[in-house]
This record gives sequence, C-alpha cells and structure tokens, in this order.
Amino acid sequence: MSGSEHEFSGRVKSGIILNEIMPLDLQRVELIGQELAIQWKDGEETFLSLETLRRACPCAACGGEPDVLGRVDRPPVRYLPESFRLEGFVPVGGYALQLRWGDGHSTGIYSFAYLRRLASSANE
Ligand SMILES: [Zn+2]
Repeated sequence: MSGSEHEFSGRVKSGIILNEIMPLDLQRVELIGQELAIQWKDGEETFLSLETLRRACPCAACGGEPDVLGRVDRPPVRYLPESFRLEGFVPVGGYALQLRWGDGHSTGIYSFAYLRRLASSANE
C-alpha cells in the first residue's frame, strides 16, 4: 500500500483530484455524480458508473464481471444501496486504485488496465 487515502466526503465534496501520486498512466480521478471520471495521460477519458464499477469488483469475494473476465461461475454477491456509493480510494503501487465503498467493502484492486477494459466494454 502506498500513498494516502483519498476521501470523497468532507471538505472535498464532489470531486477529488489526483496529481502527485499517479506517476504512470493516470492523470486524474474525479467523482462526478454517480460516475467516476478518469483522465489518462494519453488524453483518453473514461467514465464508469459506480454501479458498473462495484459490480465489476475484481476481489475474490465478488469475482468481477463474468463477461469481462470470461468466467461462468460467479459467487452470489449481495448489494445494498450504499454498496454503490464510493467513499474514497487508495492508489496502489502506481498501477491500480483500491476503491472503498459505502458498505465498507474495500478489497477490490482495480488496475488501470482493468478500468480501461471495463470502460470499453461498458460502452459497447
Ligand atoms: Zn469485491
């Protein structure tokens, strides 16, 4: 784990900007309404709804989206309304974001590559 945790609540209400802690592909991350807007260093912009992100949580308990990862079996996951509320995130190793959700779930590590893949499959 590297870097400090970033909160979406508190003094930064509607958005938070990453700058100093993302040395690689990611330029900035912003929470806009129910979407996470990610700006990449190559100029691409990715918008992912929080629900899409949560349902695609790559942790072992959630198993990610079967159509993204090509899995058939998927453990049952129960979601609450607050499961789709993003509380904050922690940058992980310069290659991923660990998202923390309103229901306390925070074991999903979303690599940048995974986020980009999710975005392209969500837009098809
Ligand atoms: Zn998960």
